[in-house]
Amino acid sequence: MEKTLVIFKPSAMERGYVGQILTRFQQKGLIIAGMKMMQLDENILREHYAHLVDKSFFPLLLSAMMASPVIVMCLKGKDAVNVVRLMTGATNGREALPGTIRGDFSCSNQENIIHASSSAEDAKAEIKRFFSENEIFDWMPQNLKFTYSSIEME
Ligand code: UDP
Ligand code: MG
Repeated sequence: MEKTLVIFKPSAMERGYVGQILTRFQQKGLIIAGMKMMQLDENILREHYAHLVDKSFFPLLLSAMMASPVIVMCLKGKDAVNVVRLMTGATNGREALPGTIRGDFSCSNQENIIHASSSAEDAKAEIKRFFSENEIFDWMPQNLKFTYSSIEME
């Protein structure tokens, strides 16, 4: 099964939405493979947002991501990267569709509640960046046959 990385950004921590958002992921059937709280620093953010370091808004993004501790989470499921991105919605909360996490909890292009890996390749690198191997658990819920059909689990 595929794994993806989610970060509950300071906007989710400060506004108290961690529980509601985690509930959405669990309702969907995603499996928690790893979860911890941490304070991000400039080094890890420069790596994580390497594609944005030259943008004029990067210093603002840095301070927004360091404004409080965050919760990082590894979620597992069939096509988990795409499923979580669809649930996350467009980057800009004002353009994200209602029903998505950003569409329902954000009206900002920066303070947009969560990060979600954007490809399977990114997900692998991001999980390695934020978790050590022994922090990712290889468990499967016992009731998985009520989440997926047998051919979907092949
Ligand atoms: N961001 C921003 N201003 C912008 C574009 C992005 O502050 O004009 C921030 C925003 O918090 C976004 C993060 O930079 O979530 C990463 O940008 P990316 O383009 O990777 O969007 P995402 O994958 O998070 O949708
Ligand atoms: Mg991105």
